[in-house]
Amino acid sequence: MNTVAVVGTQWGDEGKGKIVDLLAADADIVVRFQGGNNAAHTLVVNGQKFILRLVPAGALHPGKTCVIGNGTVVDPFALLEEIDTLRASGFLTGEDSFKLSCDAHMVMPYHGAIDRAREARLGRNAIGTTGFGIGPAYEDKVARSGLRFADLVDFRSFTAKLERNLADKNAYLKAVLKAKPLKAGDLVAQMKTVRKRLLPFMADTAALLYSAQQAGKRILFEGAHGTMLDIDYGTYPYVTSSSCLAAAAHAGAGLPPGRLDAVLGISKAYTTRVGGGPFPTEIKSGIGKRLREEGDEFGSATGRPRRIGWFDAVLARHALRLNGAWGLALTKLDVLTGIDPVKICVAYERGGQRFDEMPPGRVGLDKVRPVCEELPGWHQSLQGVRSLEELPAAARRYLERIAELSGVPLAMIGTGAAREATIMISNPFRC
Ligand code: GDP
Repeated sequence: MNTVAVVGTQWGDEGKGKIVDLLAADADIVVRFQGGNNAAHTLVVNGQKFILRLVPAGALHPGKTCVIGNGTVVDPFALLEEIDTLRASGFLTGEDSFKLSCDAHMVMPYHGAIDRAREARLGRNAIGTTGFGIGPAYEDKVARSGLRFADLVDFRSFTAKLERNLADKNAYLKAVLKAKPLKAGDLVAQMKTVRKRLLPFMADTAALLYSAQQAGKRILFEGAHGTMLDIDYGTYPYVTSSSCLAAAAHAGAGLPPGRLDAVLGISKAYTTRVGGGPFPTEIKSGIGKRLREEGDEFGSATGRPRRIGWFDAVLARHALRLNGAWGLALTKLDVLTGIDPVKICVAYERGGQRFDEMPPGRVGLDKVRPVCEELPGWHQSLQGVRSLEELPAAARRYLERIAELSGVPLAMIGTGAAREATIMISNPFRC
C-alpha cells in the first residue's frame, strides 16, 4: 500500500509519534493535516529524545519530505523554533525536506491571549486547552477573518489585515475577557522576519501531494490528537477544534477521496486523557498513580499529569469504525507489566441499562459505569521483546482479547519508548 494514515483512537498521546517515525522509514513524504502545536509527539531515536509539535515525525529520517497541510493552524514562531532545533541536530537540512501549505492558517499571539483568558474565566469549567490559541485560530478561519500563510506574500495587505484583526481582538480582550491588549507595532516587525524565513518553504502542498501520488510515491499522513478529541465525534465540548479522523486527511491535505489505502489506529494498552471531560474507565486507585509514573504520563506540550484508565473497548470500537481502520497499533504494553489482574472495559452501564456501543452524542458518558473483564497480568519485563512468541502467555491473551473486542487486527505492539522497541506484525507499506 502506498498511502497510509496514522490516527489516534483515544484522547491523544497514544504514541502516534513513535509509530509515524517507524513507518516513515518506508515513506517518501510525511504529512500533518490538522491541529497545531497543541499536539506533541515524543520520539526517542538513538537514545535522544525529540518533541515535535508541528513538523511531522518523518523529520528524523534523512531524505524525506515533511509537509504541513492546509488543514492545520500553525504558530509561525513555534514552527521556526522547531525548525531551528531540528536543524541544530542535523535534521531537515535538505532542499525539499520541508514544505508548508500556503493555505494553512496562522496562529497569532492574540489567539493565545484569548485562549488563556477564556480558560481562566471558565475556572472549574475550563476545557483544559493548552492555551496556545488553536481554538481561536480555527474560529477565525471559519469566520473568514483568519490570516493564511499565502497572505504573507503581499506584506502590505497582510499588515492591514493584521491591524484590523488586532483592533478587534484587543477590544474583545479588554472589554469581555478583562485581559491585557497586544501592541500592533511589535507584531508587524516580528511578522516581517517570519515572512522572510518562511516564504522559501511555502507551496501548494495539495498539488505537490497529487503529483507525488501520481508518481507512485509513498505518503504517510500523521494525525494529531485522537478520535475522542474530534470536534464532531469526541466528548464535546472537551475536544480540540479540528477533525482528528483519518477522513480529515482528505480536506486537510487535499487528498482526493478514495486515495487513502490504509488507516492505522493507534491506542495505548490502557487509556489516558489530559484536561476535563468524561472518562468512563478512569482509575482512581493507586494503580492509576503507578501507571502514570511507569508510563511517564505527563503531557509533552504542557507537562500536565494525564488521567489514567483501563483499556476501553467500547471507545476503541467507536474510534476504529469511524476511521475505517485497517489495523491497530497498541503501544505501551510494557507499562502494564506487574499489574495483576488487568482490566478491559467491554461495555458501559447506567441505571440498569447496558451500552455495548457509545451512547448517541456521548450523552451521559460522565455518568456511566464501566463493565470490566479481568484478565491475569504478567510480571516478566518486556524489554527486548520483538516478537509475539517472546511475550508472556498472559500478555498474549490480553492482546488477543483486545483484538477480538475491537474487531480490528493488531498490526504493531509497543514494548518500550525507543523506535526499535516494537513488535511488527504487519507494516502497511509492505502489504
Ligand atoms: P503522541 O502524541 O500520540 O505521539 O504521544 P506522545 O508522544 O505524547 O506520548 C507517547 C509517549 O509514550 C512518548 O513519551 C513516547 O516516547 C512513549 N511511548 C510510545 N510508545 C511506547 C511504548 O510502547 N512503550 C513505552 N514505555 N513508551 C512508549
